[in-house]
Amino acid sequence: MAVVVEEDVIIVGAGQSGLAAAACLSQRGVRSLVLERDDCVGSLWRKRSYERVRLHLAKHYCALPHAPHPDAAPTYLPRDDFVRYLDAYAARFAVRTRLRREVRAARYDKATARWEVEAMDLAAGGKVELYAARFLVVASGENDEKVVPEVPGIEGFPGTVMHACEYKSPEGMKGKAVLVVGGGNSGMEIAYDLADAGAVTSIVVRGELHVVNKQIWNVAMALYPYLPLWLIDKLVLLMCAVVFGDTAKHGLRRPAIGPFTMKCTTPAYPVVDVGAYAKIKSGEIRVLPAAVKSVHGNTVEFNEGKQYPFDAIVFATGYRSTVRRWLKSDDGLIGDDGMAARSYPEHWKGEKGLYVAGMVRRGIYGSYEDAEFIAEDISKQLHPEAHGNGKNGEQEQLLAT
Ligand SMILES: Cc1cc2nc3c(=O)[nH]c(=O)nc-3n(C[C@H](O)[C@H](O)[C@H](O)COP(=O)(O)OP(=O)(O)OC[C@H]3O[C@@H](n4cnc5c(N)ncnc54)[C@H](O)[C@@H]3O)c2cc1C
Repeated sequence: MAVVVEEDVIIVGAGQSGLAAAACLSQRGVRSLVLERDDCVGSLWRKRSYERVRLHLAKHYCALPHAPHPDAAPTYLPRDDFVRYLDAYAARFAVRTRLRREVRAARYDKATARWEVEAMDLAAGGKVELYAARFLVVASGENDEKVVPEVPGIEGFPGTVMHACEYKSPEGMKGKAVLVVGGGNSGMEIAYDLADAGAVTSIVVRGELHVVNKQIWNVAMALYPYLPLWLIDKLVLLMCAVVFGDTAKHGLRRPAIGPFTMKCTTPAYPVVDVGAYAKIKSGEIRVLPAAVKSVHGNTVEFNEGKQYPFDAIVFATGYRSTVRRWLKSDDGLIGDDGMAARSYPEHWKGEKGLYVAGMVRRGIYGSYEDAEFIAEDISKQLHPEAHGNGKNGEQEQLLAT
């Protein structure tokens, strides 16, 4: 019979959300253990994003609890700086991690009032380990698994086919015809990166989308505590009209819902332009409006019947959460899509010591808030005496975002 490792709190995932939760718990004197499938912390940023990526939001929106970015840090952190920040964060708060542990099942046991967690030690040939804890924090990410559409004939495509999470740089793409499928943030940034390096770039943008830029978006974020969403939308669209003109002329139709309302009330997010729009306007990036229908050799056929040859295809078609595969009892905290089922700010706490961090599409500042809420709640239950005069379970808006 395998030995059961007893912990107070098990956290699944050593991304920014799991690290922040562990740090906030340790600041309150609560020990936790983070189980992480990969061999490092912050693996999404370190291994599954491209070299040129920078954070979209200014650094004061992108810090984790108890660790603001220094004044000398760039306003928009490059990926490598953020990776170093996560490493330093884990070290500073002595986050206890077990790497190469993939959680395969977690269920609540009524008899012991504990969460029983089964993890595979991937470094030891898949040996199964058992853990038990009163509290379980799901921090396994919104972006755990790539989503790639099924395209008839793609297996016969002679060039490179990859997902955005495998794209690192445009090396070797100069002069090649590259198709980027998907007009979200990843797709637009990768298209820009490719075109900037001399690839003959096309991007499939099927739906409507809002294009903003970092400066406009940071103004919107700063106004959020003071103005209603509809007014922020109006101001953002006014600024966008000045900066971008009519984006529909270039194949990028704006949705009827305003950009900030869209961010706050739907899973969609505006495209924060890093230079792709200028290249679309100048014709360096071609926008294709129809979905990919099929592939014949190196020719891609689109739904409206057009066909073009390509040397490479990058699918920037999104990610999905995988929580529902391993979380066996969740009382409705996690929805069918593997994301938090309830909307912000009611999303983070379930029954029987179950919590979810970083799963309502609120980015790094969402990880910040969730970690503080969760750590405070667990600490109150473990150390009620220390909270005798504390607040009674109220949530505070920790950041004005
Ligand atoms: C290209 C890109 C750019 C982005 N840019 C920004 C930005 O500028 N600003 C911003 O705020 N947000 C940005 N985001 C969003 C950002 O990804 C999320 O905010 C953030 O990664 C979520 O962190 P997390 O810790 O919740 O999840 P993740 O970083 O995904 O970490 C989850 C961890 O859990 C591990 N895991 C999953 N399942 C298991 C399991 N069963 N067992 C053990 N471990 C498991 C994974 O290996 C992973 O390390 C971007 C996302 C992408 C993809």
